[in-house]
Amino acid sequence: MKADAKPTRRRSRRGSSWRHPNDAQVRVPRKTAAAIAVMEMGVTDYRVIAEAVGLEVDEVKQIDLATEGPVRRLGVQGIPAGEFFNLRTTICCPKCGAKVTIAPCVACSSRKTA
Ligand SMILES: [Zn+2]
Repeated sequence: MKADAKPTRRRSRRGSSWRHPNDAQVRVPRKTAAAIAVMEMGVTDYRVIAEAVGLEVDEVKQIDLATEGPVRRLGVQGIPAGEFFNLRTTICCPKCGAKVTIAPCVACSSRKTA
């Protein structure tokens, strides 16, 4: 069955955004923050990241290569502890090998703070 309701339409309405709890200057689309969270886990495959957060591969690439703006700022600062993002796919944590559906990896995060 062919789905003719393909979501090719560009959303003029912005998806939900995410705000850094400690930095008022950092406000990015939630998917962007999620992509950074996945990258921080050590996942380097743009395709895996794109699928996990629901972005295009090119969009993930741009997030990774961001040299200025809030995306860059967040990339440098990192996702603050206690922030988690639901993923669309299950990914394998490169650090502990756990299969996770949220980023960052809970096992690794709790180990860090424990
Ligand atoms: Zn882990």
